[in-house]
Amino acid sequence: MAGEPQADCLFCKIVAGDVPATVVRETDTTVAFRDINPQAPTHILVIPKVHHPDAASLAAAEPQIAADVLKEAAEVAAQEQATSYRIVFNTGSGAGQTVFHAHAHVLGGRGLQWPPG
Ligand code: 5GP
Ligand code: ZN
Repeated sequence: MAGEPQADCLFCKIVAGDVPATVVRETDTTVAFRDINPQAPTHILVIPKVHHPDAASLAAAEPQIAADVLKEAAEVAAQEQATSYRIVFNTGSGAGQTVFHAHAHVLGGRGLQWPPG
């Protein structure tokens, strides 16, 4: 069923505590943890606890939780004292998505080029 934990999903395992992560914030609906391969001094992933394969699927099925993810992304940036930052939702393998559990990248702590390439 949509939203249910998936046995083969890395981020569901992090939500369950079965895979360790450096958690920086947690709410009833979200978890935020440091990316294992950071691309900036601040690189944190904010995920919903429920499983949806990407951000668009999450927003369509559970819009309040999608809003929670965005709110938490801003909270994480503030906690990291990043005044300028980028929130990225890679969607589809052609855009670099490798983990098919919705997640926001929060990137900051250095200058970020635009367009990103
Ligand atoms: P995507 O490429 O799907 O947008 O982002 C997935 C992110 O998850 C990547 O930036 C990758 O470094 C990160 N990642 C992959 N495996 C792990 C892990 O086991 N722990 C943590 N903390 N991050 C991970
Ligand atoms: Zn999942």
